[in-house]
Amino acid sequence: MPNKHFCQGPTCHEQTTADRFLKSKGIIRGRYAYATMDREPNQWGWTPNGSDVYFCSQRCKFDWLSTNMENIEQGRPIEFIRHRRETGGYEKITEEHEGWQGRPYKTHSIKRVDNRTETD
Ligand SMILES: [Zn+2]
Repeated sequence: MPNKHFCQGPTCHEQTTADRFLKSKGIIRGRYAYATMDREPNQWGWTPNGSDVYFCSQRCKFDWLSTNMENIEQGRPIEFIRHRRETGGYEKITEEHEGWQGRPYKTHSIKRVDNRTETD
């Protein structure tokens, strides 16, 4: 278990990137945050931003802000995510296409194959 929080991005566990996809279970999993909790400097001596301890990417930071600013304004508590979130029902799809001069090529994508949502 790395010394990292899970990403707090509201839709981190729904984004279909290859690094989030677990083929054997057909699920998309949320990422760990970018930086370790102690924010150790990297090999060039650069210390991560404090918010990098909580998010994997700028997109997840902005998603979180968009989702939660009203809660902050209204003084409503926001759930801190302490477990790896998952979304079920995905499959890797390989498609064959006809390319230049009739030469076939393949593309890969991760697609939702059912409408079921699992939260753990
Ligand atoms: Zn994220």
